[in-house]
Order: sequence, then structure tokens, then C-alpha cells
Amino acid sequence: MNCFICKDNLSYSFSKQFNEYDLGNVDYYSCNTCGFTISSNHIQLSEKKWNQLNIDWHTENNLKEKNPWNRDERYFNQSIMIFLLIKFNIIKGSNFLDWGSGEGGFSKKLYDLFSIKVNCYDKFVKPSVFPLAEAELKSNSYDFVVNNAVFEHVTKRETLDEINSFVNNTGILAIHTLVRESIPKDPNWMYLLPVHSCFHTNKSMDLLMQQWGYTCSVYNENAKLWVMFKEDPKLFYSQINDINKIIGYDYFKFKVGFVDFWKD
Ligand SMILES: [Zn+2]
Repeated sequence: MNCFICKDNLSYSFSKQFNEYDLGNVDYYSCNTCGFTISSNHIQLSEKKWNQLNIDWHTENNLKEKNPWNRDERYFNQSIMIFLLIKFNIIKGSNFLDWGSGEGGFSKKLYDLFSIKVNCYDKFVKPSVFPLAEAELKSNSYDFVVNNAVFEHVTKRETLDEINSFVNNTGILAIHTLVRESIPKDPNWMYLLPVHSCFHTNKSMDLLMQQWGYTCSVYNENAKLWVMFKEDPKLFYSQINDINKIIGYDYFKFKVGFVDFWKD
């Protein structure tokens, strides 16, 4: 098996026993170069089984808890972050897409607070706000594409490329997932959920950005969102710096490449 981020070899890393959803013993493999980690069991599931696992887990999880993992706080903070980037003309245009939006919680928050419209698309759930059907999605045409908790539910490279394919030539991509310096070889790690098939590192995300033509990124720890740009980083840095001065602190963490905020 090869890493679908950098193509280097994957080596066996650790296993975890799941006593639910017929998963059984799951083996995780890590990339020797970029640390990207993936479950060999999940990538071998048929599309039908994989889809069903996601539907079952999300249905059960959403019924159990109203606000899993402080999602509402995160959507609120993401709305502020995106509003600021639009207000200061960093995010331009108005054709926005939330890919894998679920019910559309982020889009609803952004609209209710700031009257900013983000179209919603989800393979498994019908969004309750601004829904788009798969046939309505247009590649290379969105000024801003966001995804929340999607990158850890991926079993093939094509899905990541599909998400990015909707961003237009000058567009911006925003990602919320958990990213660390390295993935712990620990079956008790809290992020090893039945529906989490892969895990990204600072290095693997940096490589992915480069492969897709993004030069720099900003991160805010309350929003837990990385926003990636294709601009000249020098020009862009002074813009972000000016905004941070107005806010009064380093609200936007900036880096050429991927903001490696979480060092483990
Ligand atoms: Zn790799």
C-alpha cells in the first residue's frame, strides 16, 4: 500500500478492536515520509458498506448528543473568521460551497449572523439550508469551498481531489479536521472513531497544499479552521498582519505552506 498523499510506502503502525458496526480488528498504516495514517480495513470496505457505516454512525451519534464536540461553538467561531476574511476582501466573490455540509449547521450560522450565503452539498444528508444536488455542483467554479470534519472520513485520494476540484483558479479552500505533528500509535487515542478512516499530519497537509497549488494558509484556534490561499505569500502576509493589528492580537496565525499550529 502506498500513501495517497506523497506516494511513499505505508508501514503497519497499530491496531484497534472495535466491537461495533462489524468492524472488528482494524489495522492502521502510516506513511514513512509524511506520517499520513490510514485504516486498511476501511479502504477495503465496499462503497455500500462504507456509506452505510457513515449513515448508521451519524444517525446514532446525532441522536445521542445535541452538540457533539462543541460543534455549535466551532461553527460560531468559524462564522466570525470567515466574515472577517470577507469583510477585509481576502475572500472575494460570492459563490461559496460547503462540501460535506451535513445538515448545513455552518452555513446556517453564517447566514443567520452575517447574511452570507454558502451553498451546501452532502452525499449522505439533505442539507436544510441552501442545498445543492450533486448534478448542480460545478467544478472549478467556487470562490470559497469549506469542509468540516470530512478529511478524516476519506478512503481514497480521489475524494480529496474532488473536493478541491470545485475551487476556482483564484479560489480559497478551508478545512476543519484534526491535524497533528504525528499520529499516536495508541489504540485508545480519542480520535479513533469507527467512521474515521484516515489521519493527517502537518507534513501531509503541507504536501497536499503544494500539490494543489496553495502557497500559504491562516489558522484560528477557536474556529479550528485552516484557510488556504493561492496568493503571493509576501503580499498576503502584510494584508493579514494589518487585519491582526485592527483586531489587536494575532487572531490569524499565518504561514507560508500549512500552519503547523498543533505540534502534539
Ligand atoms: Zn505520505
